[in-house]
Amino acid sequence: MSIKPEKIKPGLHVCIDFKGNGYFIERGKVIRKLRKNWPIHIPDRDLNSIGGVNGQYSIPPNRLMLDLTFTKDGRALMANREDHNYMWSKEHIDYCKSYDHEEKKEPVKTCSICKKKFVGLGNNPQPVKNLSVDDRCCDDCNKAVVIPRRFREVDKEIN
Ligand SMILES: [Zn+2]
Repeated sequence: MSIKPEKIKPGLHVCIDFKGNGYFIERGKVIRKLRKNWPIHIPDRDLNSIGGVNGQYSIPPNRLMLDLTFTKDGRALMANREDHNYMWSKEHIDYCKSYDHEEKKEPVKTCSICKKKFVGLGNNPQPVKNLSVDDRCCDDCNKAVVIPRRFREVDKEIN
């Protein structure tokens, strides 16, 4: 789950999907904002044996996740019992959830003419089948059925 782009800020502790494959996760801290990517500082750690990296890297926002082992004040949750309890507290979970970037799913609509499912705004199918403005039709039907019908209606009025 990536972070809401507007929530990324300097100093935030993040987990980085370093290679974009979901397997090579590094932990680091946001340095500042560039136009598109975020420079992240990955601290020196004894990770050479497992191929760890350190230094500064420019990472696209969709590869960043919130590091859940830090509080909203930037305090590291160490391995003691109190911190463990805090990590599962409603306060901390709510804080983490507020960073979750849910992909916006467009609602699926049903075309009122061909009954096919589509996403997006759709089109006003009037005057076909006496449908109302609230009925929506797909782009294909709009081109193939609705628009020609409207032209015919106009012709009728002219003639
Ligand atoms: Zn249709």
